[in-house]
Amino acid sequence: MYKHILFATDLADDTDYILTKVRGMRGFTGAKLSLIHVVEPLPGYSYAYLGIEDIEGQLIEESKNAVARLATDLAVDPKNQWVEVGPTKLKILEVAQNIGADLIICGSHGRHGLSLLLGSTANAILHGAKCDVLTVRLPE
Ligand code: AMP
Repeated sequence: MYKHILFATDLADDTDYILTKVRGMRGFTGAKLSLIHVVEPLPGYSYAYLGIEDIEGQLIEESKNAVARLATDLAVDPKNQWVEVGPTKLKILEVAQNIGADLIICGSHGRHGLSLLLGSTANAILHGAKCDVLTVRLPE
């Protein structure tokens, strides 16, 4: 059975919905749990445009705090918490491989049309992952 689960969270309001499944899967398997949230870098010009000096630094800081709160709630060790900066899909796949995750859990909004053509994060993880992926269908 699964030994190391990586939960990819966008820290959105629907996180609680996925958490029920994460907790269930962890309880069922007894697997180690790691968390990852990725901060996508903003284009350089947006700093000046927004008049904020270090918006990326603030985003990273806030993300670290939010992931730490989630980790406390889930009893996840600080060494298993990941806040990465870069392209979301690539970073999730990279960390999954580096830590030897054998299951990635993420949400899926089940979008259609253009979003589907462009590819959602869940879709990209599903197609790029070297391990199993559980996509939790989120309520519309
Ligand atoms: P989306 O394709 O944006 O609807 O996201 C689908 C799922 O991908 C989310 O429910 C998360 O599990 C994961 N995800 C999206 N964005 C991020 C992010 N920035 N960091 C970590 N996971 C993410």
